Amino acid sequence: MNAYRKDFPFFAAHQDLVYFDNAATTQKPTTVIQALVNYYSNDNASVHRSTYTLAQQATDQYEQVRAKVADFIGAKDAKQILFTKGTTEGLNWIAQGICHQLLQPGDEIVLSVMEHHSNLVVWQRLAKELGLKLKYINLTDQQTLDLADARQKITAKTKVLAVTGVSNVLGSVTPILQLSELIHAVNGILVVDGAQMVPTMPVNVSQLQIDCLAFSGHKLFGPTGIGVLYATSTLLNELPPIEFGGEMVDQVSLTTTSFQPAPYKFEAGTQNVAGVIGLGAAIDYLQTIGMDKIHTEEKMLGQYLAKQLGEVAGVNVYGPIKRDNGIVAFNLDRLHAHDVATFLDANQIYVRAGTHCAQPLVNILGVNATLRASLAFYNSFEECDQLVTAIKAAKEFFDYA
Ligand code: PMP
Repeated sequence: MNAYRKDFPFFAAHQDLVYFDNAATTQKPTTVIQALVNYYSNDNASVHRSTYTLAQQATDQYEQVRAKVADFIGAKDAKQILFTKGTTEGLNWIAQGICHQLLQPGDEIVLSVMEHHSNLVVWQRLAKELGLKLKYINLTDQQTLDLADARQKITAKTKVLAVTGVSNVLGSVTPILQLSELIHAVNGILVVDGAQMVPTMPVNVSQLQIDCLAFSGHKLFGPTGIGVLYATSTLLNELPPIEFGGEMVDQVSLTTTSFQPAPYKFEAGTQNVAGVIGLGAAIDYLQTIGMDKIHTEEKMLGQYLAKQLGEVAGVNVYGPIKRDNGIVAFNLDRLHAHDVATFLDANQIYVRAGTHCAQPLVNILGVNATLRASLAFYNSFEECDQLVTAIKAAKEFFDYA
C-alpha cells in the first residue's frame, strides 16, 4: 500500500475505492483536518480587528500563512499574496483590476486553446466590454502549447498573456519561462492559471517571471473556499480594490474613503481564516514530502497509466507522449465517456467524464467528452492496473467487438 495513504482519513473510510479525480479536488490529510478542528475549537477570533489576545493570535496565524505561501511559490514578499476563494476568483480579480486600469480598446489579449473556462470566459467578457481582441495559441501535434504559434500571436499590441501552467485535460506543461520572455519583450503581463500546476510540480514565480498566479487550496490538499492570487508589487499597487467593505479601508468619511495598501485593500470583509489556516497546514504537509518528490512520483504514475491504457485496443489516450504528471485523459472508441464512467463507478473507480470545463479544447480533440483519470502521490501502480482491468471489463460489458 502507498505509504502516504495512512495520512488521509478518507482512504480509511473508503478502503476499496480508487480515487482518480484529483484534478477536480484532492483528499485532505489529517493534519489539515486537525488544523481546522483546532482553529474552530481553540483559536477562533476575528482577525485584523480586535485587540484582545486571541484575536491577535488569530491574526498572527493568518499572516504567518501568507508568508508561508510566499515562500512556497518563491514570491519575494508576503504582501504579494492575496487570499481568494479559489483560482476562479483570482483570475476574475485580475481581469477586473486590469480592465479598469490598463486596457484600452484595440489592445490584444492572448490565451491558449487549452484554457479552463475560468481563464477564458472572464477574458471573453472583458474583450466584449472594452473592445479588445482575443487571440488563441494553438497546440502542436504533440498536444502541447505551440511556442512558434505563440511568437506569431504575441505582438506589440498584446497587453496580457493568460495561460494555464498545466492543462487540466491533457496534462501538458506550458513553457512558462519562454512565454514570459516573449510577453515581457512587448511590455505585457503574464497571468498564469496555476490550478493544476501548483499542486503537481515545484513553482517559483520569481524564477519563472510570472506577473500573476492564481490557484486553489482544495486542489492542493487543503480546504475548499480558499485560494491564492500572487501578483507583482507594481501591479498590486496600481490595481484598484475590487470589492469594498470592512478592513480594506484606511479613512472613511461620509463623502470619501482612502484604502489600505496591498494586500489588505483586496481583502474586504471577514476573511476565511480557517481556510487560510488549513491551507497553511496543507503546505506544511506537502513540504515534508517535497514538491520535487511529489512531481516525480505523480509523473511515474501518469506515465505508467498512459502506457497501460494505450496498449488496450480501442483506447485513445490524449496528451503529450512525454508525460509530466498524473493527468491522463482518454476515451474508449465508440463508447460515450459517461457510460464508461458509470461502469467504472460501479467498480468503485472514480474518474471524471465530460468536457472538464474546457469545451473548446475537447472540441479540438474531435470528441464530445473524454474520461480523465487524475492521479496524486497517494495513488498506486496497483490502482492503475485496476483501472486498466476495469476498462477491459467495460469493453466486454458493452459488447465491444
Ligand atoms: N483552472 C484550471 C486549469 C482548473 O483545473 C480549475 C479547476 N478545475 C480551475 C481553473 C478552477 O478552479 P476553482 O474551481 O477551484 O476556482
